[in-house]
Formats: sequence, C-alpha cells, structure tokens
Amino acid sequence: MRDSDLIVIGGGPVGATLALALHDAGLAVTLLETRPAGVFSTDPRMLALSMGSRLILQRLGVWQTLAPGVTSIGTIHVSQRGRLGRTVISAGVEDQEALGYVLPYAALANALDRKLLESGVATIINQASAVGLEVKDTHATVRYEHAGATLELDAKLAVVADGGRSLNELPGMQRQVRDYGQSAVVGHVSCEFPHGNVAYERFTPEGPVALLPEGERSFALVWTVNPDAAAILCGLNESEFLQRLHCHFGDRVGRFLTVSGRASFPLKLVTVRPVTASHLAVIGNAAQTLHPVAGQGFNLGLRDAWEMAVTLQQTDPEAIGSAVMLARYRARRKMDTGGGIFFTDLLVRSFSNDWPMLGMARGAALGVLDLFPAAKHFVARKMSFGANG
Ligand SMILES: Cc1cc2nc3c(=O)[nH]c(=O)nc-3n(C[C@H](O)[C@H](O)[C@H](O)COP(=O)(O)OP(=O)(O)OC[C@H]3O[C@@H](n4cnc5c(N)ncnc54)[C@H](O)[C@@H]3O)c2cc1C
Repeated sequence: MRDSDLIVIGGGPVGATLALALHDAGLAVTLLETRPAGVFSTDPRMLALSMGSRLILQRLGVWQTLAPGVTSIGTIHVSQRGRLGRTVISAGVEDQEALGYVLPYAALANALDRKLLESGVATIINQASAVGLEVKDTHATVRYEHAGATLELDAKLAVVADGGRSLNELPGMQRQVRDYGQSAVVGHVSCEFPHGNVAYERFTPEGPVALLPEGERSFALVWTVNPDAAAILCGLNESEFLQRLHCHFGDRVGRFLTVSGRASFPLKLVTVRPVTASHLAVIGNAAQTLHPVAGQGFNLGLRDAWEMAVTLQQTDPEAIGSAVMLARYRARRKMDTGGGIFFTDLLVRSFSNDWPMLGMARGAALGVLDLFPAAKHFVARKMSFGANG
C-alpha cells in the first residue's frame, strides 16, 4: 500500500498544472511545496504565453480569471542591431486571434495556486522541501523536511517539478549545465509611442533584447547582457538606464520614459537526460531550463505537465510509474522538448556574436523568412503549439 499514486515535488506553475489536470482522474495526488500556505509568488518576471498554453489554461478553468490582466501580442518584429534583415509575423496574416499573451509570472502562479486549493484534487503540504529521492522496482520514496522533522512518502510515481531549484541528485539521471555567461535584466518600461500590441525581439552581439507589450502603453523588458553589465544596469539611476536602453534598442518605439521593477536572472541551459527513471519523472524547468530568448520555457513545461496528465489518465492505475508508462510519456515529449531546446540554443549561439559573415547570413535568413508566408506560418505554428503542433 503506497501513501499516494503520485507525488508532485514543487507547486510552481508546472507542478500545479499537472495536479490540476488530474482533477477527474481519481488518483491520490500529494503535492509538496516549499512556500507557506497562502503566501503567493512575488517573482518579478513577465511571461509570453503561446496560444497552445492559453488553450490548456482555458481547459483548467484558469485562463478565465487571468484574461482581464493579459496583453495580447498581435505582431512580432524581429531584427538585428546594425545589420540589414528583419522579419514581421502578424496574427491577422496567420489567422490567429493573437500570436501570444503577456502576463506576470506571479499572476499565473497565484491563479493556479487558488484553483488548486479550490479543486481539492491534491493533498497539498506547504513548507515542505523535498531533500532526497530513492527509486525502487515498485515505487519511489521522497524524503522531505517539514515542521522541523524529516519525513518520507512513498508513491507509484514521483514527478519532480522543482524548477531545477533544489534537488541536485536525481537517481538514474544526468544533468548537463551550460552557462551562457549572460544575465537577463527585466523590468517594466513606458515609452513615447503606443505599443500597438507589437512584441520586439532585437538581436545584438551582447545578447537579445525583447520588449513585450504590457497594458496600455508599457513594455515588459528582457535585456540580455553579461553578468557584470547586468549588475551595473540594475544600479543605474532611471534616466541613465533609459538612455542606455535607447542607445541599445534604437528609435522604433520613441524615447523610453520610465522604468520600474528592475531585477536580473542568470541564464543557463540546463538539461536532464533521461527525463524518467524507475517510478520517477522530471518536468518543466527541472527537466530543461532554457534561455528566455524565444519565450519557450514555461510553454514547454506546461506541455510536459499536460502530456504527463494525459499519460497518467490513459494508464491502468497498477501500471503507474512502470517502464511502459514512462516510455510512453518520453515518446510523447521527445520531439517537442528536443525541438524547443535546439531552437532556443541555436538562436542564442548564432545571434550573440559580431562575426561579419554570420551577421550577413542572419540578415539574409530574416529577410528570406519575411518573404515567404509559408515559412512564417510554419514558425508561428511551432511557436504557438510546439514541435508536435
Ligand atoms: C527572465 C525570464 C523570462 C522568462 N520568460 C519566459 C516567457 O516569456 N515565456 C516562457 O514560456 N517562459 C519564460 N521563462 C521561463 C519560465 O519562467 C519557466 O520555464 C517557468 O517558471 C518554469 O516553471 P516551473 O514550475 O517548472 O518552475 P518554477 O517556476 O521554478 O517553480 C518551482 C516551484 O517548486 C518549488 N520548489 C523548489 N524546490 C522545492 C523542493 N525541494 N520541495 C518542494 N517545492 C520546491 C518552488 O517554491 C516553486 O514554487 C522566463 C524565464 C526567465 C528567467
């Protein structure tokens, strides 16, 4: 007799989605989360969600509460500083209501938290930090710290969704880390011209800078620079910061007027392989942590959670956590995660340098993409629904 069918480690957006997506599966689900109950996320990052993610959140009944606070992306404008070549993708041409949606991570995490509490689908243990995992032929054992004690729980399947933040040892799995030597400076900026629901991605040799439309007149900024420059940018006074941003980004949105909420995040590519072991799986950022350049990290993690829930629902309860079930999950996710990791890493590596030949090739690639509607449609579809879409 196991304590649960499923233990989810981490109640961030990905872990919470997995639990919620199992609301009518009739499984005994336990979720461990480090945060105290009722203490919601204050993480300052903004997320661009794809149309596919919106559809999943809609099915979970979470989108409905988020919708009033999201800003839709009607057009994506991609260019590189100091070189020719740019491409513009627009929702109207792609026959989509929007190419994506911008919203605060905290709003999403908090809406999922509330829905999870309301649904009663899982036994939630707050202020519980998983500290160790052991896998056996028949089950997994999770060791966690709670209220000053170290406790254990058994389950047919343990799913790690800790965002890669804590569990270093994952039995039967290898973690690979590549430091990009870059940090993302995030914040909210207002500017002279209305954004018109356009998202800008501008590549520079120091790293990409993205402006995502937010609210009526603001943008969420993601400015990638080396870690020393990030510390300097976060410490500058407002007018110096805005001036530097203007020099870096150019005139496309006019002058920048205000900035608030600056913070910085170190950027690494982290991958875990394989993503399953006996009675164990990793999903979301715990399985792959990506550079934010293409806004794919959470979208990919959400699809991990959704596909894990579908696989669980299609599995005989006795076979939960078995090699057959986990092989089925890996097969469902292989192309999507592989494609997302490859595409994001390729963008970072091929655009973050100043080699003249590569600069011309990039310009040509952006120009060619802009000229061929079928190619743009392909890119828009993959970004909206993933490699399997
Ligand atoms: C600057 C920046 C911008 C980004 N922009 C985008 C974007 O536009 N679009 C996009 O799709 N993605 C984006 N991402 C990526 C996105 O933020 C992540 O993919 C997403 O947050 C991953 O969610 P998660 O639930 O896997 O992990 P997390 O959000 O890290 O959540 C993990 C949860 O696990 C809990 N936890 C940790 N350790 C333990 C433990 N031992 N026991 C119990 N609980 C634990 C934590 O408290 C937390 O609640 C961006 C990332 C950055 C850094």
